[in-house]
Formats: sequence, structure tokens, C-alpha cells
Amino acid sequence: MSRTGLGRFGVMPPTIVREPTRDSDDIPICPECGHPVANSKGSQRIEKPDLVNVVLAASFDELVTFGWSCDRHPYEVVMPMRAGGSDAGAMIDGWTGVELRFTDEHVRHVPVPEREVSEHVQ
Ligand SMILES: [Zn+2]
Repeated sequence: MSRTGLGRFGVMPPTIVREPTRDSDDIPICPECGHPVANSKGSQRIEKPDLVNVVLAASFDELVTFGWSCDRHPYEVVMPMRAGGSDAGAMIDGWTGVELRFTDEHVRHVPVPEREVSEHVQ
């Protein structure tokens, strides 16, 4: 879907991106509200990702990542799994790590499908 003219329909707010948190039972929870989010594990979408790499930043209005999300807010809250670096060492094959500025202003690697990145960075 094209984002052109979105202003007429209300602007899509940027996704809130947080580090994953776990409770005392090691269950992933939402850092905003404390709700368990284990069931949301999978591919997530980040609207208007604040990517550090300028080429990527110009290419992605929306970024696919892997992790958890919380749907108990009027805005999207996404908690990407830790990618462990640019080779996404903690991830399965086919994913790579890109540097993303989180809502707390810290830059961390998040997993992104390798194919999506290689299409944009050559
Ligand atoms: Zn929440």
C-alpha cells in the first residue's frame, strides 16, 4: 500500500520499539504494561523504523522483524528479538541484523529478513 496522501486519512504513528523483557518466571512481557506476550512471538512490523544506515532508512517505510508485540495499546508496541550483531548470530538462517534506534534512543541490532536488506543495499 502506498503511503502517499496518508495525511488525508490520519497519519500512521511510528511503532514503539522496546527491548524484550521477561518476568520472574522467564515469560516475555510487554515493558509498557507488563502483559505476557509469549503468544505473539513471530514476524512483526515496525512502522517508520529509525534505521541508522542511511540507505536502509531511505528504503524502508515499514520494517519486518522477529520478536513479540503487545496489542493492548492504542499504538503498536514491538519488541524485536536480540539479533546479537550484524550477522544475527542468535537468529536462524535467512535473517540478518540491522541497527535500529529504539524508542529509548539506544541503538541495537534487530533481525530483518536477509533478502529484504540485500535488495536495498548493493
Ligand atoms: Zn503492553
